[in-house]
Amino acid sequence: MKINNHKLPEHALSGQRQLTSFHFGQPGVGEKIYLQAGLHADELPGMLVLHYLKRLLSQAERRGEIQSEIIIVPIANPPGMAQVLLNSGIGRFDLISGRNFNRDFPDLAKLVQQRLEAATSSEKETTPQQIRRAMADALQDLPALSEVDALRQHLLMLACDADLVLDLHCDDRAILHLYADPAWRAAVGVLARFLHIDTVLLSQDSGGGSFDEACGLPWHRLAAHYPELAPACMAVTVELRGQQDVSHSLASADAERIYQYLQHRGAIAGVVPEVPQREVVMLPFSAGEIVNAPASGLLLLLRQPGEWVAKDEVVAEIIDPITDTVKAVRAKAGGIIYASRRAPFVTLGAEVMKIAGKTPYTGGGGLAS
Ligand SMILES: [Zn+2]
Repeated sequence: MKINNHKLPEHALSGQRQLTSFHFGQPGVGEKIYLQAGLHADELPGMLVLHYLKRLLSQAERRGEIQSEIIIVPIANPPGMAQVLLNSGIGRFDLISGRNFNRDFPDLAKLVQQRLEAATSSEKETTPQQIRRAMADALQDLPALSEVDALRQHLLMLACDADLVLDLHCDDRAILHLYADPAWRAAVGVLARFLHIDTVLLSQDSGGGSFDEACGLPWHRLAAHYPELAPACMAVTVELRGQQDVSHSLASADAERIYQYLQHRGAIAGVVPEVPQREVVMLPFSAGEIVNAPASGLLLLLRQPGEWVAKDEVVAEIIDPITDTVKAVRAKAGGIIYASRRAPFVTLGAEVMKIAGKTPYTGGGGLAS
């Protein structure tokens, strides 16, 4: 295992942080696989999973079983880790810019396109290898306008030329689920089975420049200009349940499942495990809804993550103990509740839960991690 420390620019006078990546296998041998956790720095389950996975990979390395390049970044957001307020981590939004840490990644398709247009006709090749090289060169040339911009560039530099990217997140309170590009539907089904994930949300371009889409989407965008190009990077956001779901038993089991999936892909030698038999529900992202609070008050969930609910069904109540009003909270379109609020109170308009149905509807979507 090789350890690389990537220095970030000083965020303040005399203040400098670094991003640490762990490398297994050899570049150019087998596939390239990239896993990171904690891009939203207050989402800790994935960090513990990668702690366990790193241990499994180190053991495999000692046995000489690593057959692909595998990169692990257990803490993808050192600046976010440092954002602590009243003893709680505030890791979803950058407190300097107010922006979500999982947005605003550079558009590699645009950057590569510009380079290809400027290239002479003999240099203008569009094999996957050349596109990957152009992506890395374009990122190298980008100016880092802030510490967080530099962080985004470093993360993309590590991941943009990978065959597989797993970005580990979690929700407030949630079942295991993942977000993926419908172009990879079949392969994602296999990944989901290995990870014991029964709910998959499919979306190709939800907007905003999230990390997974920054890795996978450029191939679709470039294919519009160069039809011979096929998607070459399966980038998936895995939601490892809720923020409080940090335990030895969950994390070691998740790491074991990822390890078996990597064996299935041929990245690690050994007896290739069978694909687990379980039903995976694939739902269009545009059929998702966020249920918002119609009033402020005490929140009582009547239905929980993992349950299917019908259109207009009452899923929660909000109680005002001064007026004794009990307000019903209803699902608009219905579907499976895959995430919910943990705190038992809400202010008007706050998110109560996330539901994904089978049929897209007007006003659906917009729930990316
Ligand atoms: Zn997240």
